[in-house]
Amino acid sequence: MGVINVINPFDQSLVDTVASAEVSDCLAAVHRAHSAFATWRATAPRARAEMLRRAYELMTAEHDELARLVVRENGKVLADAKAEVTYAAEFFRWFSEEAVRIDGDYRRAPSGANWLLVSREPVGVSLLATPWNFPAAMATRKMGPALAAGCTVVLKPASDTPLAAIAICDILRRAGVPDGVVNVVVPEPPGAAVSAMLASGLVRKLSFTGSTRVGAMLLAQAAERIINCSMELGGNAPLVVFDDADLDVAVDGAMLAKMRNGGAACTAANRFFVHDKIHDRFVDAFAKRMSAMRLGDGLDPQTHVGPLISRAQQDNVATAVEGAVAGGATVVCGAKRAGDTSFGYHPTVLTDVSFDADILKREIFGPVAPMVRFTDADDIITHCNSVEHGLVSYVFTRDVGKGLRFAEALETGMIGLNRGLVSDPAAPFGGVKASGIGREGGHDGLLAFLETKYVAGNW
Ligand code: NAD
Repeated sequence: MGVINVINPFDQSLVDTVASAEVSDCLAAVHRAHSAFATWRATAPRARAEMLRRAYELMTAEHDELARLVVRENGKVLADAKAEVTYAAEFFRWFSEEAVRIDGDYRRAPSGANWLLVSREPVGVSLLATPWNFPAAMATRKMGPALAAGCTVVLKPASDTPLAAIAICDILRRAGVPDGVVNVVVPEPPGAAVSAMLASGLVRKLSFTGSTRVGAMLLAQAAERIINCSMELGGNAPLVVFDDADLDVAVDGAMLAKMRNGGAACTAANRFFVHDKIHDRFVDAFAKRMSAMRLGDGLDPQTHVGPLISRAQQDNVATAVEGAVAGGATVVCGAKRAGDTSFGYHPTVLTDVSFDADILKREIFGPVAPMVRFTDADDIITHCNSVEHGLVSYVFTRDVGKGLRFAEALETGMIGLNRGLVSDPAAPFGGVKASGIGREGGHDGLLAFLETKYVAGNW
């Protein structure tokens, strides 16, 4: 069995090692989940709820320790890691409350000939694959509803950041979740192991969060066995500032939408469309905030933005910026790598970006804000909707009616209206188009792990 070195992206120091799971280990985990399913689905919803509640309480008690682990394996700043762990724990609290709200339906058929009885059952063994950018929250956003619904799980975290996920599985064990219900495997490389689990005939649900490229590949594999899929994929969020926006609200919202997690978020604002009449004031205020951000070690309380996850990601961000500048963009601040050996990149604001610039067509996944000036408000909706992704959009205007009409026309699963953050365990999170299929969080998050069964009967 190989060993995975988990590296701190700030100084490349070794944080810990994890055994790399072989294909046979992953299949054994699927079998354990399969054996545990019958008992877990029959466990009283209240009992499942109370275990999730205890897991929430343990996570809350161990909050700071977990947050520091997230910083060390992922590089994000401590404030972001603390916010992530709070957010992550909230999924256990929310789904502990949802576990006892699995409803059904009982009605007379319209013809009067019989009765319609509808119930909901756990879908079965669920394979949950998560990315490196939110190592704690993506694990709980899937495990919370799966366990609440009565499913057993195999969690496959990203091998760059497996430690928080492993720690959270241990919390679930200490909260009383029986052996076999939660299994965690870290195969590296992941491809063959994930394929084997999907082909095992025992996995009934794939819940994946990650890139659109890998998501599409796994959907094709899942199709061979008609496996129920939920897909949370990439984003390319537009952020629109209308001329009637409250400048302070727009700048605060833009900072949050761009810089949460140092820009490494699927929800990160990627394309800034700013009305000509407010453009210069907005850019001045926003760039002042961006250039005041200190880049460095996420554990240092003076740091506002941590490194990117890897040298490859640092290269991607640098290439995107160089391409934009070659195409005529002006650098207002940043546009350079960290001066140390970390994978950092300075918070960057670019203006004079044209509507067709390449940087607007890709998920930057770093602290770079390309600004496009616009005058025609009717035209801007077409630009917002012109990309393959459709996860989230941000709109800033004092005219709420206009904002809501705009929201109606946007082809994204979520909209932040005068707000730079949409994530909430009680809300349905997810995208349309190439950003995914299905929703996580809210009641929809629970439904994703339930099958509907219908009995037509007379009694
Ligand atoms: P990724 O697609 O490379 O990896 C995601 C997961 O898939 C990881 O567990 C990884 O090990 C696994 N994986 C990678 N290659 C695989 C293969 N060939 N076969 C099977 N599994 C494989 O994504 P990432 O780089 O870890 O994460 C960044 C991406 O995730 C971005 O595109 C981001 O937008 C997206 N994301 C989306 C959401 C959302 O909710 N929509 C949330 C966070 C991140």
